[in-house]
Amino acid sequence: MITIAIANQKGGVGKTTTAINIATAMAATGWRTLLIDLDPQGNASTGMGVDQGDRERSSYDLLVEQVPLSECVQGTDIPGLDIVPATVDLSGAEVELVSVEDRTARLSGALSGHMGHEICFIDCPPSLGLLTLNALSASDTLMVPLQCEFFALEGLSQLLQTVERVQQRFNPDLSIVGVVLTMFDRRNRLTDQVSDDVRECLGNLVFESVIPRNVRLSEAPSYGMPALVYDHGCSGSRAYISLARELISRLPEKRKAA
Ligand code: ATP
Ligand code: MG
Repeated sequence: MITIAIANQKGGVGKTTTAINIATAMAATGWRTLLIDLDPQGNASTGMGVDQGDRERSSYDLLVEQVPLSECVQGTDIPGLDIVPATVDLSGAEVELVSVEDRTARLSGALSGHMGHEICFIDCPPSLGLLTLNALSASDTLMVPLQCEFFALEGLSQLLQTVERVQQRFNPDLSIVGVVLTMFDRRNRLTDQVSDDVRECLGNLVFESVIPRNVRLSEAPSYGMPALVYDHGCSGSRAYISLARELISRLPEKRKAA
């Protein structure tokens, strides 16, 4: 299984929207896909239509109670896409794990040897705390959603420092698969300028696919559906399908055959 953390400590940049829709696109392409909701807000779970009352086992159980992954996974309405949902309990995990010796390795321990899925996306919370450290330590690679606004690059340098720290201390093989520009608004000149700056600064690290600002993407979660199901043809869905294609082309050769 290849594991991809979707992280940016900045709030509201499109992490969850990206996690839900790229996971759906990968499942639709035939990959056995797992989505782990690692945010106490539980937005990915809600957005996938997993109501609070239906979250029997959660990422809290996985991390803190060390319940085996196979018992925490549940199906979704999307064929080929399973989820480990999040509950508010997870907000206590940072404190509960603080005195635990392997506190940053809980998730990688839980995922190791897992054979049931080919690809796993982890939706991270908007912080660089223990939950995100667990995700980065457990992942092969990182995808960074970046909103084209003025402070975007500043936040990114802090994230990259954290990645370096994780590489040095916990996970030397962690790579960055790419930065995806989200909520792109062609009519806004600042968007264009920030996007040019980001591409100049990061080069090929930035995915060519850009996610436009699209109201269908923001409506879909209230129906408990990925946008790809809610409105398959909208500009946002098409952008995520294109991103999935690009992601597959960036994965190591042997995985692409899957
Ligand atoms: P948090 O940091 O709180 O976890 P996040 O980074 O996961 O936030 P999202 O929840 O995906 O961000 O998006 C924030 C808000 O913006 C949501 O209301 C979402 O529906 C909306 N949104 C995300 N992407 C787009 C887009 N491309 N076009 C329009 N609205 C979007
Ligand atoms: Mg989120």
